[in-house]
Amino acid sequence: MSEELVVARGVKKSFEHQGRTLEVLRGIDLTILEGEMVGIVGESGAGKSTMLHCMGTLDIPTAGSLKVAGEELTRLSSDRLATLRNRSIGFVFQFHHLLPDFSALENVMMPGLIQGRSRKDMQGAARALLTDVGLGHRVEHRPGELSGGEQQRVALARALVLEPKLLLADEPTGNLDSKTSAQIHELFFKINRERGTTLVIVTHNMALAESMPRMVTMKDGSVDRDEQRVSSYREISAAAAAARLAEAAPAAEVEAVPAAPSV
Ligand code: ADP
Ligand code: MG
Repeated sequence: MSEELVVARGVKKSFEHQGRTLEVLRGIDLTILEGEMVGIVGESGAGKSTMLHCMGTLDIPTAGSLKVAGEELTRLSSDRLATLRNRSIGFVFQFHHLLPDFSALENVMMPGLIQGRSRKDMQGAARALLTDVGLGHRVEHRPGELSGGEQQRVALARALVLEPKLLLADEPTGNLDSKTSAQIHELFFKINRERGTTLVIVTHNMALAESMPRMVTMKDGSVDRDEQRVSSYREISAAAAAARLAEAAPAAEVEAVPAAPSV
């Protein structure tokens, strides 16, 4: 049986804004198991980003219990939160936040270098990941020399380089056209299937959210619906997965992601 990776119980978050208390999360109960792939949808302002930030230790709930990898986040010091974040969590945002003066390879190596790992160590891992996201031929390019989709692939490789258990993505394709979005989503499926990384992806793209094994709908700071299709993406065959994606994005529009060795 899969382990519980994220356990939220009655999670609340409020902000003080212009002298008023704004209740953004109003008691979230959510359990995510290791290896799951979960889409989070909901109207703008529903609290999706806030919930994702809380799961990622970038924000702390005001009330309730939130455990990630067995650690109660509301009780950890900021140092321990940073350690947990570095060791177990990867992020992908709508904007890639790559460093413009560094190559794709250096950008992907960066999280390891910051932790004091050697260039030699990181180079191999970074190169393998870039190849895996279809950018083996672009490793020396700087972000400004890459397309939007390619930049987001680099950001994805960077988020994975320290092998996080949990990958959190906040509208990772919000800035991309539909064809490129479908390709990036396809990569998320591949990462989940081949590495077993747990993925939580906030998206506006309903078709792609519906192609995921589980879709959580948030509304006014609460979980409105939680629909489970299969318990793990790995339970669906590759063919079925391709069919789901083809439904999500018109087939003619989807270019195959370049073949690469397994992650
Ligand atoms: P979503 O990602 O679903 O669009 P968010 O989690 O970003 O929603 O925001 C939910 C609500 O919380 C919004 O009304 C937003 O304005 C408010 N909010 C988010 N962060 C802050 C903050 N730091 N201070 C005040 N209000 C905030
Ligand atoms: Mg948001």
